[in-house]
Amino acid sequence: MTLFIDVNTLTNLISKVGLPNFMQQLLDYMQSDFKKWEQFDKSARTAAHSSEGVIELMPIADQQQYSFKYVNGHPNNPKNGYSTVMAFGAFADVASGYPLLLSELTLATAIRTAVTSVMAAKALAKPKVDVMAMIGSGAQSEFQAIAFHCLMGVNTLRIFDIDSKAMDKLELHLKQYPKLTVIRCKNAEHCCQDADIITTVTADKNFATILTADMVSPGVHINGVGGDCPGKTEISAELLTLGKIFVEHEPQTRVEGDIQQLPPEHPVNAIWQVIAGKIKGRDNLQQITIFDSVGFALEDFSTLRYLYDLATQFEIGERVELVPSLSNPKDLFGLINASGAINNASVCA
Ligand code: NAD
Repeated sequence: MTLFIDVNTLTNLISKVGLPNFMQQLLDYMQSDFKKWEQFDKSARTAAHSSEGVIELMPIADQQQYSFKYVNGHPNNPKNGYSTVMAFGAFADVASGYPLLLSELTLATAIRTAVTSVMAAKALAKPKVDVMAMIGSGAQSEFQAIAFHCLMGVNTLRIFDIDSKAMDKLELHLKQYPKLTVIRCKNAEHCCQDADIITTVTADKNFATILTADMVSPGVHINGVGGDCPGKTEISAELLTLGKIFVEHEPQTRVEGDIQQLPPEHPVNAIWQVIAGKIKGRDNLQQITIFDSVGFALEDFSTLRYLYDLATQFEIGERVELVPSLSNPKDLFGLINASGAINNASVCA
């Protein structure tokens, strides 16, 4: 039977281990998978674009397991009562093709994106970080804030959003973290002051410029999360040329990331190589490092692998007959025969 994790089951699982532990354990799974990068069969995601947004399919496999995620990105959705990003995914056994897990991935994507950001920041930011600026206070923002506070030691968070109600919501939720000081800023420039890390996590299906060169100081690490689709950017082209750029899967990021603004020959570095200890991250304390995150299938693979192990350990989640269990695998027809579904076969004569 296939394990099924819906939204309630996932929140139940997170409450069993606590969000910081959940994030830390997912980080461990992700780092271990990124170190094995070369063993994965990788491809850029396929995208169906419309004037309102995008729907994407993200597959990946190694020799043991296969996963895919279905995810959308529709920046105007909140006005109509839907989230900008919604997702679900599956995890399967490569040897048999049997689907082991079908899971909600909207909440899980927000967590995995924040954990991916921390994984990159641990590899690229200066050794000691205290202040993070975060532009964008939408659905992803709490997860970014909590991951950087609990896993990376960020104790001061400067926030800005063009929607003051989104900032109210973020501030309210973060009150539960008494050691995190939240500073509400009047604009993006003000937000970036004194930041060791700048996270951009806005949504606008537009060539937006949220962050420019005059807003950053030497040594800063930029965690660019929201520029993740053709025609959807956050970081100015000039600022991109001033930093050392790191990406997930280069063929995908060239099309979707902020680097879509740069010529295709502009050098970028693979984040997995830093995590695997094959190349250096930052070269010196003055360098600007940029993680041009778009979200890659391996991060969802790690998430599904972790969820499967965790739900199995806690015996949480429903077992559903997503594919038939047959005593004779060649007798698929027997399923409907037994149910009486063909009791009026005589009409075909
Ligand atoms: P959301 O719609 O819930 O929130 C986005 C916020 O950005 C809104 O509150 C909006 O007011 C704010 N905003 C828009 N333009 C702004 C500007 N110029 N200055 C300041 N704030 C501005 O979206 P979300 O779910 O939080 O997602 C945020 C972004 O992250 C989206 O673009 C999404 O596609 C992207 N994302 C990336 C990854 C990844 O792996 N890189 C994963 C998930 C989501």
